[in-house]
Amino acid sequence: MAKVALITGISGQDGLILAERLIRNGYVVHGTSRHCSTSLVQKVRNFLIQQHSTEEIDQQLRLIESSLLNAEAAKKLIDEVAPDEIYHLAGQSRVGRSFEIPVETFEANTQSTLNLLEAVRKSTSDHKPRFLLAGSAEIFGGSDEALLSETSRYAPRSPYAASKLSAQMLVETYRESYKLFACTAILFNHESLLRTPEFVTGKIAQGVARIALGLDQKLVLGNLNIGRDWGDASDTVEAMRLILSASHPEDFVVATGTWRSLTDFLDAAFRVVGLNWHDYVETSSEFLRPVDTPRLVGDASKLRSKLGWKPRSEFTEMVEQMVRHYLQVERGTASIE
Ligand code: GDP
Repeated sequence: MAKVALITGISGQDGLILAERLIRNGYVVHGTSRHCSTSLVQKVRNFLIQQHSTEEIDQQLRLIESSLLNAEAAKKLIDEVAPDEIYHLAGQSRVGRSFEIPVETFEANTQSTLNLLEAVRKSTSDHKPRFLLAGSAEIFGGSDEALLSETSRYAPRSPYAASKLSAQMLVETYRESYKLFACTAILFNHESLLRTPEFVTGKIAQGVARIALGLDQKLVLGNLNIGRDWGDASDTVEAMRLILSASHPEDFVVATGTWRSLTDFLDAAFRVVGLNWHDYVETSSEFLRPVDTPRLVGDASKLRSKLGWKPRSEFTEMVEQMVRHYLQVERGTASIE
């Protein structure tokens, strides 16, 4: 019988990529979203139709409108879907925005996790589902360690980071107290063609495209003095699958181990269209955060050695693909989903 997966937050970058991968592997995928509007359903189907037939999508995909903030609704969802695997990706994923909406961020990221874990714990099914939380490297935001691993000191620096750390601690508590197969994938930044301009990489890719097409004269950013371990979302999603199919439930850092500055990203992105970023980039305090995370680089040795994970994509190539995609989006020949 086909395996059943539940993906919360299916319409986000990782949800879409994961859904595609699971459908390709024969799964029946149930995806949740807070609002299953016609445009959202269309967005998910449009993305999947690039790789799968309408028939496959009809047979292997179900979209469900569900609020994970309601404990009873979460319980009903788990009982009705009876998944083999749960990928909890839903949440408020913007660090900067979490300073403006801390309560909503905590509810979306932490309360939802607790409701799902409780639903799994109370489930009377013979085979309790395996549970994966999309965690975040931001839990190490204030750390001064050069390479961050599963044993690094937690130092959250935003409501977002605190909410993700609390969610991760709940996963650990439920794993240890109730022997659930529950894990956190501690995700470092990861990008794709689906990255929206709310994140700096999407904003740069869009900005470069608009400047190259003569639609904008400049690109205004916030703090340029930062660096990240920017991986590829496709590699990240593969890590999630490996973590849930391991023999034991454990938390894993998912990172490339390579640090790039924001100016490296700018350099690579502007080079795609033959321009120099110094001529176009300005900064404004409008995009600064009350506290920022200057540097995040992960050490995924545990994931590599225990589960054989190997990121495939290369930084410059990924940046180039993002810029080329935004050139199409801005010309109106492609959409961001
Ligand atoms: P995050 O790592 O999850 O917070 O992902 P973001 O892409 O939102 O931000 C990455 C880094 O880029 C942060 O340190 C931001 O302060 C910095 N940054 C600089 N300018 C901007 C900007 O205009 N927008 C965003 N989103 N981030 C910016």
